[in-house]
Amino acid sequence: MSGPFIGITSRELNGGETSVQSVNFKRIVKAGGVPIIVPNTYDQEMIEAYAHLLHGLLLTGGPDIDPLLFDEEPIRDLGQITPRRDFLELEITKLFYEKQKPILGICRGLQVLNVAQGGTLYQDIYAQYDGKLLKHRQNAPSNYGTHFINIDKQSELYKIVEQEKIRVNSYHHQAIKDVGQEFYVSSRSSDGIIESIESNAHPFAIGVQWHPEHLEDAPSDTLFAAFVKATRETA
Ligand code: MN
Repeated sequence: MSGPFIGITSRELNGGETSVQSVNFKRIVKAGGVPIIVPNTYDQEMIEAYAHLLHGLLLTGGPDIDPLLFDEEPIRDLGQITPRRDFLELEITKLFYEKQKPILGICRGLQVLNVAQGGTLYQDIYAQYDGKLLKHRQNAPSNYGTHFINIDKQSELYKIVEQEKIRVNSYHHQAIKDVGQEFYVSSRSSDGIIESIESNAHPFAIGVQWHPEHLEDAPSDTLFAAFVKATRETA
């Protein structure tokens, strides 16, 4: 097998150890890709080497992005931040975007994509969003969808899942505020929260606020399949 090689970004644990939930590997393998862990690093040359080698980038879920990276100071309700991971993910995302290589961002990954393109975030939707919110941090099994999203029929996401309304899981307290350059909103939940974005200037740059890697349904399978298929075209 000569690929496609899909980079999977990793969690930064206390003490600098990294980890990746195996469900990310499983979904890439199931879709026909070869997963490779991208370690968190400040080494720009290493990041460029990964961006050169890899055919696709899966930005995984994780803690909050340092708000200083979108020119805001931290509010009280900001969660944990991991500066080295922020650096790696923003740098490699910019390189992938420039090179027109496929990117799939999950949860934090959607937020990284957005910030890499100059967008901003609600540091905590419950503290900062005007309006009545749904429960976006579910207390339910991760393979169980707890709220709906409405998908724009003009979007790439709609072409992939072929449904206007799907049920998704939800594990976030942050969300997109201002959408980054060249991106547009492809779905929202009923309270108006942005649940996915995509680029109209890139063959495959999609971010989703939910966790398709934990859902065992057709929309999640087709999303991973479409992502890996796109990476095969650049491989
Ligand atoms: Mn949600």
